Amino acid sequence: MKQFIFGLFFGLTVAIADAAPAHVHGEARLEISIDGEQLVIALESPLDSLLGFEHLPRDAGERQAVESMAAKLKEAGKVLVPSAAAQCASTGVELESPVLGGKSEPGGHNDLDARYTWRCAKPEALRDVATGLFGVFPRLQRIVVEFAGPLGQRAGRLDARNPRFSW
Ligand SMILES: [Zn+2]
Repeated sequence: MKQFIFGLFFGLTVAIADAAPAHVHGEARLEISIDGEQLVIALESPLDSLLGFEHLPRDAGERQAVESMAAKLKEAGKVLVPSAAAQCASTGVELESPVLGGKSEPGGHNDLDARYTWRCAKPEALRDVATGLFGVFPRLQRIVVEFAGPLGQRAGRLDARNPRFSW
């Protein structure tokens, strides 16, 4: 019984941790999902990992830095590269962050959320996604990846030396 309660408590703690991922500077999260011909990748990163600051821009230099970050993230083909054989075409990039017009978190820590979508002519050939984020954003050190596709779920970690997630 004791063991059961411990297991239940531990499971619950893990579930809560999953629901509210930690905001860790230097780290970002990617959620990759395949649904039929559609590939969807959600990126969530502390602004510190991309910008070096998390407050709303205060001067022209900081506004310029925000615009430059957004422009780089919108280049889907440089940020994320799905398996070439799957013949995926980018169908959209959406960015959301307090620095792009929104409310700042009370604690002063702010994230950027991005959503990338592709339509793939041969989704069965999707085997991996490589990221160029480490080259574009040197403050970014690690990416925690969660994947869900027709073959099941997987998780992994990427860094500058290992920028490709395979399944
Ligand atoms: Zn922060």
